[in-house]
Amino acid sequence: MTTLDDLPIRDDLRGKQPYGAPQLNVAVRLNTNENPHPPSAALIADLAEAIRRGAATLNRYPDRDAVELRKDLADYLGHGLTGRQLWAANGSNEILQQVLQAFGGPGRSAIGFEPSYSMHPIIAAGASTRWIEGGREQDFSLDPGRAVALIEEHRPDVVFLTSPNNPTGTALPLEVIRRVLAAAPGMVVVDEAYAEFARAGTPSALTLLPGHPRLIVSRTMSKAFALAGARVGYLAADPAVVDAMLLVRLPYHLSTLTQAAARVALAHRDELLGTVDALRAERDATVAWLRKRGLTVADSDSNFVLFGMFPDRHAVWEGILDRGVLIRETGPDGWLRVSIGTSDEMAAFRAALEGVL
Ligand SMILES: *Cc1c(COP(=O)(O)O)cnc(C)c1O
Repeated sequence: MTTLDDLPIRDDLRGKQPYGAPQLNVAVRLNTNENPHPPSAALIADLAEAIRRGAATLNRYPDRDAVELRKDLADYLGHGLTGRQLWAANGSNEILQQVLQAFGGPGRSAIGFEPSYSMHPIIAAGASTRWIEGGREQDFSLDPGRAVALIEEHRPDVVFLTSPNNPTGTALPLEVIRRVLAAAPGMVVVDEAYAEFARAGTPSALTLLPGHPRLIVSRTMSKAFALAGARVGYLAADPAVVDAMLLVRLPYHLSTLTQAAARVALAHRDELLGTVDALRAERDATVAWLRKRGLTVADSDSNFVLFGMFPDRHAVWEGILDRGVLIRETGPDGWLRVSIGTSDEMAAFRAALEGVL
């Protein structure tokens, strides 16, 4: 039998592990930060109609530049943005890949502040970009002085800031992002996959775009818009950054059907973002319940909660799984992460955790 080791794979990929959040067939799945609310009947009807119209043109390639979708995304984000400042791809993972293809690459480096999104170093490896691992403070915040010192020491071509951060839920004050922008010699990506879940008063890095042409704000429709299966992510940046994306994207990367689905979801945004308010309330209740239960809980501006500390977190994860609830064994040792589901799902989670404890 042939194994990967037998193949002439690139040396820098040898021995690497693929991304691997378990996809198990469990009743309550709270492990990949999905929105638990399926699309409404009205949205499904509009989606089916848009797909039907799109299907009639599938002999032709899609709009290579997704112009209408980008206008809709700019309209959604506000901040005076136009379609020229937006770029869309198959999930924000593809956005980040395109960013590294354009601004990273062989002989170049990217830095992140861990614990953070596990895909950043994996996408960097795929794009032959050396990964530099920065750290966070005890409370998972980012000390601007230490972050700046690390950036000045390594001079990375790309800086990743995740706000709100995954898996900790921590949002960054704009002042930290400003300090990093001033110090970074290259591009600064603020991954705002969870921006819509932030607590009131948490500002977006979108407000920093004017005057910062090396800032890229990355967003996704996978979480707040409950559209993970459609694969739509996007960025907002200076139009020159979009010009860079045009150099590396595959032609016709975003299918006619994907563009149509994304535009229908944006048209239904009031309904979709309505679930966000309910999820934030459920999140705050989950944090309060876990704390009352005597556990340590990281403050969360996301649709998940990191909690601990467990001497044997794997045993706790497994015990919860045995009770029909799948959460995520991720983050620093001793911690577990639970995505916020419906109130029924959260009740199942609380019962399972009680059972284990
Ligand atoms: C979930 C997540 C994404 C989203 O990836 P998609 O490819 O858009 O589904 C991006 N960044 C972070 C930090 C995430 O947690």
